[in-house]
Amino acid sequence: MLKTLKIKNLHAAIGSTKILNGVSLDISQGEVHIIMGQNGSGKSTLLSVLMGNPKYTVTAGSVILDKKGILELSPTQRAQNGLFLGFQHPQVVAGVALGNFLRLAKNTIATAQKSKTPAIGPAPFAAILRTEMEKLKIDPAFMSRSINEGFSGGEKKKSEVLQMAVLEPSFAFLDEIDSGLDIDALKIVAKQLGAVQKKQGMGLIIVSHNPRILDFIKPDKIHIMSKGKIVAQGGKEIVKKIEKDGFDSFIKK
Ligand code: ADP
Ligand code: MG
Repeated sequence: MLKTLKIKNLHAAIGSTKILNGVSLDISQGEVHIIMGQNGSGKSTLLSVLMGNPKYTVTAGSVILDKKGILELSPTQRAQNGLFLGFQHPQVVAGVALGNFLRLAKNTIATAQKSKTPAIGPAPFAAILRTEMEKLKIDPAFMSRSINEGFSGGEKKKSEVLQMAVLEPSFAFLDEIDSGLDIDALKIVAKQLGAVQKKQGMGLIIVSHNPRILDFIKPDKIHIMSKGKIVAQGGKEIVKKIEKDGFDSFIKK
């Protein structure tokens, strides 16, 4: 059965600063949604709150994954329940090799989900990883490098997509996956994103402020965010309006 993720009237704050002011959004597995909006509109905050970043306090609303509320769960438990976040600014994790990290993460999630697939050992996992790296045109040497250490902006973004491809979440949230990518890298990443999403039937929420991403990814729905709320929803016609009048035209004054 296809899973659903239902965000209802979500409010969140950092300290006493309110950042999300009632976000509602429903997504099913197999769908691609894009959230656009000006800098500072709360897009990254929304994804962080979905994944359980403790920096934010949820002050109202609910997030239901398949009839089960997830706001009480830790980030680890959310990952074990099939959620994944690709960061806008991926952190360096010195001393932890990307390949080891991914294998252990994959096996830990499989154990938590009581998967019947046995834990994958280093050699077979390296073969799987190499195939996925090839598709994203990532040098296999990155397998033994520390996570994001010395990676260029584009390499970090590719690494986030690699993690998503390997971990096979039910729902993936990708924050500004297109920023810092040159046009060739953007094509590779978008193609692979689409392929993984289709193959695994995952629900995908992509955050971007650049309408160009729509040249490469065909979403089921586009949401425009402003001041911590979704102020418009629709299809490609919305993008025409953004290109003509800017995000400002959606802001209720
Ligand atoms: P976007 O991803 O749409 O650019 P963000 O979610 O990053 O927006 O930020 C939303 C708002 O929250 C911004 O106005 C930002 O300044 C504010 N914000 C983010 N982090 C903090 C913080 N630690 N303290 C206070 N305000 C913050
Ligand atoms: Mg952001």
